[in-house]
Parts: sequence; C-alpha cells; structure tokens
Amino acid sequence: MRFGVHMPQKGGFAKNVERVAELGCRSIQIFPGNPSGWRMGKLEAKEAEKRADLLEKHDINPLVVHSAYLINLASNNEEFLAKSKKLLGETMERAALHRAPYVVLHTGNHGGQGVDKGLAQIIDSIREGLPEWPLSVKLLLENTAGSGSALGSRFEELGQILASFPKGALGICIDTAHSWAAGYDVGSAGGVDKTLSLFNNAVGLEHLQVIHVNDTRVDLGSKVDRHAHIGEGSINKEGFAALLNYGWPEDLPVILETPENGTEWDRTNLNTLRELYKG
Ligand SMILES: [Zn+2]
Ligand SMILES: [Zn+2]
Repeated sequence: MRFGVHMPQKGGFAKNVERVAELGCRSIQIFPGNPSGWRMGKLEAKEAEKRADLLEKHDINPLVVHSAYLINLASNNEEFLAKSKKLLGETMERAALHRAPYVVLHTGNHGGQGVDKGLAQIIDSIREGLPEWPLSVKLLLENTAGSGSALGSRFEELGQILASFPKGALGICIDTAHSWAAGYDVGSAGGVDKTLSLFNNAVGLEHLQVIHVNDTRVDLGSKVDRHAHIGEGSINKEGFAALLNYGWPEDLPVILETPENGTEWDRTNLNTLRELYKG
C-alpha cells in the first residue's frame, strides 16, 4: 500500500514533497493548476523535470494529477465541452511532463440531458482525446457522490464507459466518501465486501488504480460530497480497516484528501491508516 496525501495549495511543490516524504508518504496527488479555473498556468519543462527527480529521490510514486473541477466531458454546451476537452488534453500533457502515470477526472454532469446521453457524450469526448494523449498517462474516472446530474456515482456507469474502450485504456479511482454518499456502505466489513463485489461485477477490480480514502459526516446515500478526517465521520473505522486489508497489490496508491491537507492533520490521518493496515 502506498499511502499518500493531496498536496495543499500553499507552500510550493518542493517544500510539500519534502514534507510528505518526512511523513513517510509513498504517493502524492496534485492539482496541475487552479482546480476551479480554465487556465493551468505555465510550467517550464526544466522545472517539471526537477519535480519528477525530487519525487524519485524520495521514492514517492505515483504522482497522481487531479484535473480541474470545471472539466465536464458530458456537457451539452458546445463551448463548455470544447474548453473541457482542451483543458483535459493540457492536463494529460502536464502529467507526462511530471512523469505522472495517472490523471484523475470526475466523470461528468449530464446537465439535464439524461444519463444515457451524458454517458454517450463522455465516451465520444474520450474517444476524440485518447489518440492525442501521451501514452505514458492513463485517465482514471473517479466515482462521484451523485449530487445533481453527476454521472459516475453508480459503478455500472463507470463500467459502461470503460467497456467502450480497449481493456486497460482507462482506469478508475474510487473515493470512499463519494461511495458512501452514493449509497455504497463502506462503513463495515460486510459493507466493504459487498461494495467491492458490486464494483468487481460492474467494472472489474483490476481497473482500480487509485483509492481516495476520506471519511465524511453525511448520511449514507445523501449524495452530498463533504470530506472529514478518518474516524471522525460516518464511515466506521471497521470499514476503513476492511478496505485497507482487502489484499490489494502492494503498490496501490491510497491517498488522503481530508480537510486541512498540509497541516498536522495529515500526520494524524496517516497514523490512523497505518494503525488500521495490517499489511
Ligand atoms: Zn476528486
Ligand atoms: Zn476524491
């Protein structure tokens, strides 16, 4: 298990990497730019290489790039869709510069056109982008809490998208807080077993490439996306223990996106995970 944390906005790349290395992290997640903007900002290739070397030096691998929240591959607005495709393409390039193997993307919002049309739009958008993206970077669809017209809260929807592409072309990132909000009970050993079996049937566990491990205070199935510290929310520690000890490949990245990343809370949450993980 390669525990990691999402990098805070403050502090700069190198300083944050030194900090998470000191915490014993083996993976890390970054936003490539402003998570709520259309522009990523410039980055010199030399600087990206320096960053990649620093990660290598500290054996922090993989670096996971989380794409901006604005990107919506299911948009039925032409201009919005074009901007989304462009920024996703740029994000894939940016990930390659950092030698990051994964870009995580929230599956999308159908915006009222319906689930089927939304999914078809996502598949079309990926089909168009895929041949242009760097071969070294894989797009991972993240399951969502299912609020509003969000797609990808149901494992079947993620499975449908993946099945439209050659095996291994895309992957999945599962977020525990989103799963809980979407009605998958990951708060007990039995619930984790059932959830992962549903995921295996709908998608295939071999496509799970990253886990976001977050607690949440919302009710099961509430469709509200709000992250909490591990053990301080509605997801029982028994659930986290069952998830961590499921028998994953040793190199599976498990990344915290808990509140106040960049503070001592990271250490507290990592300690909790390490107590629960028997590997
Ligand atoms: Zn996310
Ligand atoms: Zn997440």
